[in-house]
Amino acid sequence: MLRSSFLWLSEQRSIFEFIKRNGLARRFASRFVAGETLDHAMTATRELNAKDISVSLDLLGESVTTPEEATGARDAAVAILDRIQAVGVRANLSIKLTQMGLDLDQALAAANVTAILERARAHGIFVRIDMEASEYVQRTLDLFHTQLLGAYGDLVGVVIQTMLRRAETDVEALLAARARVRLVKGAYQEPDSVAFPAKRDVDATFASLSERMLERGNYPAFATHDERLITHVKRYARAHDIPAERFEFQLLYGVRRDLQEQLRREGYNVRVYVPYGTEWYPYLMRRLAERPANVAFMVGSLARETFGRRAS
Ligand SMILES: Cc1cc2nc3c(=O)[nH]c(=O)nc-3n(C[C@H](O)[C@H](O)[C@H](O)COP(=O)(O)OP(=O)(O)OC[C@H]3O[C@@H](n4cnc5c(N)ncnc54)[C@H](O)[C@@H]3O)c2cc1C
Repeated sequence: MLRSSFLWLSEQRSIFEFIKRNGLARRFASRFVAGETLDHAMTATRELNAKDISVSLDLLGESVTTPEEATGARDAAVAILDRIQAVGVRANLSIKLTQMGLDLDQALAAANVTAILERARAHGIFVRIDMEASEYVQRTLDLFHTQLLGAYGDLVGVVIQTMLRRAETDVEALLAARARVRLVKGAYQEPDSVAFPAKRDVDATFASLSERMLERGNYPAFATHDERLITHVKRYARAHDIPAERFEFQLLYGVRRDLQEQLRREGYNVRVYVPYGTEWYPYLMRRLAERPANVAFMVGSLARETFGRRAS
């Protein structure tokens, strides 16, 4: 109930305009978002790199409404690649197809992504296409298989959400194509017709697909904070003599920093997804939906702030 409320809120633009002006919400967002500018994101990247943790940078923004916004997002993505190259940080890029114009014109989105990948190839930087709500999955995978994978190979990867019933079929097709896959549970509100309503099915699918990806995948990424699933991946890899260099764990900026550092200390490759930008509201709402305790934290901060103000 709480989860679906936050996921509904994530789509309400008018509420964003209100929340954006709220100091507490902005401060709370700063826990999950590295800042509003690329400079802020670079500072966060350097801090993570100093702990021997890699980064995937994400300029927040999705579902653009004009072609100009889409080309603006493309140019911003190219600028991120240039900065990664110039500064020499250990980072790659994550992008969303709706930010590139998928809702407006599929050809425009494809052209924007191709422009980004051309620059990525020039710099030798990997680009991940994030996966969005289920209505975009087929179009994302079609574009990936038909236009991106053949042309850019190991420089481009995609994401599979284990909450979707189709995940197994999609993973098999991607394994057969030697594609690079990030496995996640899925962050969007989906109907039971396309998604497993029970969390245990989402988790069981994650566990079983992670095994196939460990055995046959092309440097798979396991993106979760779920310690039971992380332990499952580690145990399976050990039991099947799959070296730690053949895969990576990925976690979100500001979530389980202790676990990020522990995994790295244990010798696993760890990458943190670092979002930044002014369009942080839908991303923040999805993070709140994932963990009700975050809401309590936010309310607690509000109470402390109010109390503090009265006391001073
Ligand atoms: C690197 C990365 C990339 C991602 N890319 C995508 C994508 O492209 N498409 C997509 O749909 N989803 C993506 N996600 C989000 C993902 O689908 C989940 O919504 C998210 O990771 C939470 O699920 P979980 O696997 O951590 O498991 P959960 O079962 O939700 O959580 C496991 C435990 O992790 C901790 N935890 C989880 N979330 C939070 C949080 N927000 N704050 C504090 N603690 C938390 C809690 O202690 C919880 O008990 C990505 C996630 C990561 C880590």
